[in-house]
Amino acid sequence: MDRLATEHHNALMVSTTIFLRHSTRKAGVIIMQRNPNFKDLSNKTFGYLTPLYVEKNKNKHIYWLCKCVCGNCRLLQTYQLTSGKVTSCGCMNEKTKKSAIIAQNKRLYTVYSSMIARCHNPKSISYKYYGAKGITVCDEWKTNFETFLKWSLQNGYNDSLSIDRIDNSKGYCPSNCRWITLSQQFQNKTNNVLYTHNDETHTMSDWCRILGFSIDLAKSRRKQAKKYNIEPTFEYVFAPKKR
Ligand SMILES: [Zn+2]
Repeated sequence: MDRLATEHHNALMVSTTIFLRHSTRKAGVIIMQRNPNFKDLSNKTFGYLTPLYVEKNKNKHIYWLCKCVCGNCRLLQTYQLTSGKVTSCGCMNEKTKKSAIIAQNKRLYTVYSSMIARCHNPKSISYKYYGAKGITVCDEWKTNFETFLKWSLQNGYNDSLSIDRIDNSKGYCPSNCRWITLSQQFQNKTNNVLYTHNDETHTMSDWCRILGFSIDLAKSRRKQAKKYNIEPTFEYVFAPKKR
């Protein structure tokens, strides 16, 4: 609707509202009365909302069609606007709600954002060990922190735990992830981790025997990788010792 049409519509709707609301009959003649309770809110602002015109007048309630800064429109009653109860179409509530959830779960949100960054942001330092190797975060987590939060809380999350992929060749999703302590994670990986190189797969300690490589050095490389949050690949762990 263009501006003129809107204004015309406003005028029409407002006058209808003002006068029809309080019509009374006197000796068979309809007397139109101005509704004493009517407040013209058109083109005033209430938070992020601007009431444009009265869309309907039903059950003694006047409904304004309001335009929100985000572009959405919403029907609201006069008191909802004047009382300050509603200040946006709902988009701002969502934003506020989202930032409150993040503030309450700061550490988990950091874990969440770095997980997404190393899998999906080529600018992340660790991307080459994750995203570049096809490790991804499932859509239900990637698009919604709350889904990840809910899963985490249902699966024993606390601020001392870290996220672990059960199968290291697969990505981050509910069926392949768990919360474990750092030492558990380190232990799992050093004792049971499998390395595939030139189509041969062995545990880390078997590789050490095969290659004549120091198990202590391999372990400290894994520890180092953990510290710098990079993927402890075969090439990284079993790299020849620098002289
Ligand atoms: Zn909005």
